[in-house]
Parts: sequence; structure tokens; C-alpha cells
Amino acid sequence: MTLDAKFSGKLAYEYCTHFTNRIGERIQGQEGTDLAKDYILEKFKEFGLEKISAEPFPVLTSQQSLVQITTGKHNIAGLSFGLSGASEEGGTSAPLLYLNPWELQQSAKELPEVEGKIVLFYSRNASEQNYQTLIEAGAKGIIYISYNPGTPPYLPSGFTYLRLSLGKETPVTPIVSVSHRDGQILKEKAGQAAIHADVKTYKSESYNVLGEIPGTEPEGVILISAHYDSVPYSAGATDNAGGTAILLELARSLAKSGIKHTIRFFACGAEEGAILGAQHYCTKHEKQLSEIKLNLNFDVQGTQLGNLAIGILANEPLQKHLVKNTSEWKPMLRVGPTGGDNKVFAWHGIPAIHWWYGGGSNFLYNHTPLDDITQISVDSLETVGEASQHFIGSIEKLKTLDFTLPTEQRQELETKLKPRITPEMIEKHKIGP
Ligand SMILES: [Zn+2]
Repeated sequence: MTLDAKFSGKLAYEYCTHFTNRIGERIQGQEGTDLAKDYILEKFKEFGLEKISAEPFPVLTSQQSLVQITTGKHNIAGLSFGLSGASEEGGTSAPLLYLNPWELQQSAKELPEVEGKIVLFYSRNASEQNYQTLIEAGAKGIIYISYNPGTPPYLPSGFTYLRLSLGKETPVTPIVSVSHRDGQILKEKAGQAAIHADVKTYKSESYNVLGEIPGTEPEGVILISAHYDSVPYSAGATDNAGGTAILLELARSLAKSGIKHTIRFFACGAEEGAILGAQHYCTKHEKQLSEIKLNLNFDVQGTQLGNLAIGILANEPLQKHLVKNTSEWKPMLRVGPTGGDNKVFAWHGIPAIHWWYGGGSNFLYNHTPLDDITQISVDSLETVGEASQHFIGSIEKLKTLDFTLPTEQRQELETKLKPRITPEMIEKHKIGP
């Protein structure tokens, strides 16, 4: 491989700006993701990639027009969680009940006081299990207080999880998040409250976008991936316009390099929606998956304050090779499941490496409206681009691409991915009357 074109942080920044500023939020199954898909297709063509395609798959999506909580004289703005239920006509009204983080760890049976209440809670690490428990215990509504005082309401990913895991045809429980400060006000004023959440949930389509650089003497395919969707109300700059921008710039800079192994670029749809795009790809192309020898996934990128971080799911020889060939950039290395889409590929037996720029400030604005272009640094995009490009070059010199996944790593993935929502579940899911 000869590098005709150097990875340019500036160009990557330009692509990133297109996603965040020209398009904005890119919610699965909605206009933003369609525009992003078209832009990626256009760039793949411009760079001269081959086998370019956009593969559709079904998703559930939701739109909200008004989310507000009223209590006494207070009107508090909130955001509804993806696929939250709508409130009743005129608002879902009930007494507020604050649960402390410890109480939240109990089972539904241990929480009889929750029945018929709007539950207000704070937790640094609220899980889907917490919401399930509250719904099972009979909560009429749920208000989640954002853990970070400096940000607007936080929006979790796993967009589709709640409702499907409960097997309900219509989401009945409104779940909204409020800022940290508003959460404190609600707790203080605890009394009768009403949630007004105008939310519509419907089926739609998202796309996986693919393109290839054919290898000169391919021994297999290297799959480079990044998700291009975002959570609602966020331009998703670091998560993950930055990663998609790196993917595009790698495609441009490697397109005419005469690389030995085939590189397939995969801009994944609906990662925030329960990693649906990556799952759909693996099911649809199940028979050809063995040709993919390695996955490099870029998720959470461009962060101003942080450092290069790499998560690896692969055997020791590849771990050693990775350490040796990235040492110049001093990455923080972790063996085990990190990231999103890469876990799906690894679960299907493909050794996977997740590249991100982390350990810094990104968790403060991740999945909030603050994750905009001002969080992105040209240098950080360029660092990850150069390091990964160097690594791709080093793979060329290896005698074989036969990497494997150790059993312990696969077991860890198995437990993490088991309760997941699959595209088949979405396909079968009935919605509306
Ligand atoms: Zn992400």
C-alpha cells in the first residue's frame, strides 16, 4: 500500500460539520438519517468506491411535539425518552413520588408505594431494568433526573428497548427526562403533578450504507464501520458524526492506495436504536461473514478533551500487534467489549477493534443537545485517522489475517447482548390499531 493521500483532519472536520450543522439530529427512520445516507452515498461515489449500496431495514421511531410537567405553579420542560408512551388526554396526572437510588434497586414487589404514582428518580447509571421494575410496580409515569447539573436533559440510547421488552402493543407509560435543576425543583415541590407528553411512535426504515475498495491480493475483507445516526435532540457530533467523518476520510485517503486486502466501508444505521443496523447486516449477509477478517469501528470521536482509546476483542497476537503499531499515539487500551456496532460483529465471530477518543469530557455532553460541532477538534479527528491508517498499513505486512476471538471474550459478549432487541422483533412488532 502506498499512501497517495494523507488523512486530513480538516477534511474530516468538514464532513463532520455537514452532519451536525447542515443536517442536525439524525434519528433512526426520520428525515435526518435519510439526508445523511444520501450524503455518504455521494461521498463514496466521489471517492471512487465500488459496490456502493444502501440497504434498508425496519425500525421503530417516535416524534414528540410537546413534553411538559406541571406541578403547582411550575411548568417544567422535559424530553421524552425514545419510544416513551404518550400521556393521557389532558395529561397523565398523579402524585409525585421520589425514589432514592438505593430504593430503585429493589424489585417491583418490594415497591408497592409506586402503584399509581409518577415516580421521580435520580441515578448516575439508570438501566433499562430500573424502568422495567417501575412499570411492573404500576408507575403511571416516570421522570428521570439528569445526572449532570451542567447539561440539559439526558437521552439514553437503547431507543427501542423498553417497549418491546415489555411486549406491549402500545406504550402506556410516559417516560420523560428533566434537567438536574428541574429535578430538584420537582422533588422539593412533590405533590400532584401531570406529565404532558405528545409522542407518536411508528414504524419506518433506516439504511446501512456500504462501499468498497477492492484489494490487490485480497486474503479477506477488513470492515471499517461507524454509525451515523444520533439520539433525538442532539446533533450527535462526537457520537457519532466524528466517527462517520473519520470513516469517510479513510475511504478518500485509502481509495487509490493499492491496498492488498479489500476494505469494506460500512456506515451503520440505527446504532442508538439498539444496534439494529449492524445486526441487520450480519443476518442478511450471514453466509458471507467469514470473509470478514477484522472490524475496525469508530464510535465517539473528535472530543476536545480526551485521548486516543482502543478497545479490542481479539486474541493475543492481534492485541500485541495493535500495541506495537499504535504506540506512537500512546492509546489507552482495553481488552473487552466497549462501543456499539463492533460488539455485534464480534458476537458473530469477527475480531473487532473499537477506536474512540475518550477518557475525557465527552461523557458530560454525550446524548444531550450539547453534543454539537463546538465539541469537535480537528486534531483529535486527525490523531485517530492517522493512527488507524497506520494500523491498517501494518496489517498488510502480516502473513495471515487469521485472528480469532478467545472464548472468555465471546462469553462476556453473550451476556451483554442476550437481552437485545433484534430486527426480526421489530419486523414482527405490531403497532397502532
Ligand atoms: Zn455512538
